[in-house]
Amino acid sequence: MERRVPARYTLEGVSGAEVSVHPFATQDGLGLNLTRFRRSDCDDVVLLLHGLTASIDMFIMPEHRNLVSALLDNGFTDVWALDFRMSSRLPYDAETHRYTLDDIAAWDHPAALAELRRHVGDRRVHVIAHCLGSLSFSMSLFGGALDGITSFVSNSVSLVPRVPAWSRCKLTAGPGLSEYLIGLSFLDSRFGEAPPLTRGWMVSRLVSLFHRECDVRDCHMISFMWGSGHPALYEHDNLLPVTHQRIADLLGPTGVHYFRHIRKMVSAGQAVKYHPGDPRHAALPDAYLTRANEVTTPVLLLSGDANRVFPGANAACHAALERARPGLQEFASLPGYGHIDPFIGENAHVDVFPKILDFLKRHSSEASAASEPMNAAPLVTPPTKEVSRSSGASEPMNAAPLVNPPTKEVS
Ligand SMILES: [Zn+2]
Repeated sequence: MERRVPARYTLEGVSGAEVSVHPFATQDGLGLNLTRFRRSDCDDVVLLLHGLTASIDMFIMPEHRNLVSALLDNGFTDVWALDFRMSSRLPYDAETHRYTLDDIAAWDHPAALAELRRHVGDRRVHVIAHCLGSLSFSMSLFGGALDGITSFVSNSVSLVPRVPAWSRCKLTAGPGLSEYLIGLSFLDSRFGEAPPLTRGWMVSRLVSLFHRECDVRDCHMISFMWGSGHPALYEHDNLLPVTHQRIADLLGPTGVHYFRHIRKMVSAGQAVKYHPGDPRHAALPDAYLTRANEVTTPVLLLSGDANRVFPGANAACHAALERARPGLQEFASLPGYGHIDPFIGENAHVDVFPKILDFLKRHSSEASAASEPMNAAPLVTPPTKEVSRSSGASEPMNAAPLVNPPTKEVS
């Protein structure tokens, strides 16, 4: 079925929620945004983090059933999504810069959490993150830059980045070639639109020579910019035609310097600091797994079994975390899925979101209340719980509006 191309940056993919935008600044002076989708107050707040050059748009796409709507309909009625410095909704990725993932771990996520806490207080916060949003948030969490996270869901990559051989070549040669030979500090998925014979145009035409899998030039550029494959970031079959057509709306330009940090981590076999001696990041560990045993946040690691950007990375991270803090993480393979289609795929709400919702519900306030021994104040069971038990396994239970559990008034 052909659907119309949605407007860029549209919020129309989420209905029945009060939407508000919350700007804040990082310690190094960048303005970032949190967007809140609130249907009612909820003891379990969810924060969503996009990947490199994506944005909150990957969670609110109108052309399919998106993650924010699925969360709102399943009892998580206060959902926040962050546009951090890697967002295609912000200008930073199309500027010349030397940011690293350490900067994001030290400054973006802690500042976002501080702004979030200003509004939600000490309610439980669950984080769902994709790609370099997940890697950088893992660095914040396991590097001790923030705490108090109730649960964390990571898709594709966390603290053990692994890439295919071709990607390793691109990570090694790409930044230098791009900056010193071509003269571009960022690559744009829309280079196909550049005037003939300009640098961007030539890069796009050259890339398309090697990508015969479809006729969308933006899709070719995106495969060239990340991963190894035709296409590299998703299975074509998993995307609606309209999503494939507008893929550059969802994945914009990217600065090439981030690739140097990823290359360093791939060589080290784990997430490490870019400049170990950088005094600005002295509070962060040189290797981010070293303090993993001090963090008790439960983690769900996801990866498509057709992941061609970070294949095997989250399975390896699961093994590494299991050695440091046994029993606190789970791994789920997503059959038939690649790197980003677990969120932007047409059927992600059937194949992927139930796994995320199940994990969140097991770590929600209701689950905790149910498993607590009888203590001082008897907890009253929130009404939604009965609904969830009686309804089918992965059916959204959106019939009754959420009633605030009484515990909130008490605290
Ligand atoms: Zn394509």
